[in-house]
Amino acid sequence: MTLPFRQFVLKLHGRCNLACDHCYVYEMADQRWRTRPRAMAPEIAERTAERIGEHARTWGLASVDVVLHGGEPLLAGEAAIRHVVGAVRDRVPARVSVQTNGTLLDQRFADLFTELGIRVSVSVDGDEQAHDRHRVRPDGTGSFAGVRRGVDLLRGRSCYGGLLCTVDLRNDPVHTYEALLGLAPPMIDFLLPHGNWSAPPPGRTADAGRAPYGEWLAAAFDRWYSAPRRETGVRIFEELITVLFGGASTVEGIGLSPALMVVVETDGTIEQSDILASAFEGAGSTGLDVRTASFDEVLALPEIRARQAGAAGLSATCQECRLHRVCGGGLRAHRYREGEGFDHPSVYCPDLKHLIRHVRARLTRDLAAIR
Ligand code: SF4
Repeated sequence: MTLPFRQFVLKLHGRCNLACDHCYVYEMADQRWRTRPRAMAPEIAERTAERIGEHARTWGLASVDVVLHGGEPLLAGEAAIRHVVGAVRDRVPARVSVQTNGTLLDQRFADLFTELGIRVSVSVDGDEQAHDRHRVRPDGTGSFAGVRRGVDLLRGRSCYGGLLCTVDLRNDPVHTYEALLGLAPPMIDFLLPHGNWSAPPPGRTADAGRAPYGEWLAAAFDRWYSAPRRETGVRIFEELITVLFGGASTVEGIGLSPALMVVVETDGTIEQSDILASAFEGAGSTGLDVRTASFDEVLALPEIRARQAGAAGLSATCQECRLHRVCGGGLRAHRYREGEGFDHPSVYCPDLKHLIRHVRARLTRDLAAIR
């Protein structure tokens, strides 16, 4: 059964003021960003809003989610953000969030996001040393001090959505969690560095007996779960718990929920997902454009149907795996192997198994204690 898109990721600006070495937009296989416009033109923003409104009407959606993304979306400026948010909300109620590196956050942006009810998520990789190992300016200097200034402006405001942390095995998981906690986030997202079977993530070897990322996340889970009171949300852990108890996940890469997200680039072209850029050039391409195609035409593509097919869209190995209902085979981008495509388990398979079993064992123990 085909389901409508509910989340629209809009690439408001196609460049970034930082030069992070682990960025999947600029540093991985897909280099088409070089030929796209720097910023989304107002006509493209308007057309995108029309298409979102059209999709919402067709499917009777009461609301949609819009993520302002980049590159660095704040480079688009206040007027462009106001325009696109207004254009979408003129057509359908929209929960809007923005994913930023935080260095350009100032009082004006904080006021704008508060006024428009835009939730802000900032990319922070842990403490200053952890963060500045990767998230550097073009001259090689770290960005942590600037990011912390930006996050400080969000503290206590309703627009503060949370932090996005890319896992680096060199950082201690408990210390990383506690460093992030020091920025008082309502939510933390841990992101595994993107990679696949042909370009494995750092430290992820072919040795199926090792689960370095699973162990890292399990240690962070124990610290988070054991806190005497709730300190913050951690999306991957909360989603896992929901799915382990039989619920549906709300994020791709956990559980078997269908993919309901689509991306519009600065030039109006429509992509299935931006993280597929980590697999190969054009991996996320739909060949369609908001100027000439509706989102319903995107929904009809076989690649989108595969992403909405639940267990049937998984590799044979995953379908036979006892954990597949919880794991979901991981993110599609992480299943890729050159020359063979996406019909594989995740390159993080041992890590996902380790984490799921760890969380399940902890919950089982606690439930047994209650009984
Ligand atoms: S990626 Fe691994 S753990 Fe996940 S469903 Fe596939 S085989 Fe199972």
